[in-house]
Amino acid sequence: MLPDVIRLKECDPSFVREVMEAGGQGVSACFACGTCVAGCPTVEAMDHPPRRLMRMINLGMREEVLASDTVWLCASCNTCNTRCPRGVEIPNVMAAVKSIAIREGVQPDERVAPVFYQEMVDSMVRYGRLFEPRMMLMVSLRSGQGVEGLMKNAPLGLELFKKGKLPLRPHRIKGTKQLKTILENIRTMEGGK
Ligand code: SF4
Ligand code: SF4
Repeated sequence: MLPDVIRLKECDPSFVREVMEAGGQGVSACFACGTCVAGCPTVEAMDHPPRRLMRMINLGMREEVLASDTVWLCASCNTCNTRCPRGVEIPNVMAAVKSIAIREGVQPDERVAPVFYQEMVDSMVRYGRLFEPRMMLMVSLRSGQGVEGLMKNAPLGLELFKKGKLPLRPHRIKGTKQLKTILENIRTMEGGK
């Protein structure tokens, strides 16, 4: 939610640097032209369009930015940054905000996308690839969709199953141990975050 009045004394001027250090380099170059909004395929679902989110980051509206569902609904399609006249790598900015939100345990109102990301990573760590039935189950349960969500997705699941696209057992890659070691090393390099 955007407050009616933005009080600069309540903003965090160091936030923009924090985002840049997390991988969102270039966000400070944004001059709020709005070109990024024009071609964004998911903007209708976002609580803040990309232009506004860039502005909020630059103003230091840390709390509102981290609680926004925009970064979770960005599809990383790159339409915006190929058009941005200031060369802002918008998907990277979105990813940087996401990593800060995860690190701080901030839960946005939009629950499906964050849980989907977490379950996707969990599946990769466990099996080395996606195991869709478990993912669908866990996303429905953990995002609060419950049985209703499962029932909603059941027809799609059945179609996929009939086409042989929904295995009943996970197919593990051979090197799951090595994969775990690689991921642990990455976490260590990132300071255990
Ligand atoms: S297109 Fe680039 S400069 Fe324009 S609002 Fe979007 S991020 Fe900012
Ligand atoms: S990368 Fe994200 S913000 Fe940019 S156009 Fe695609 S969905 Fe929208």
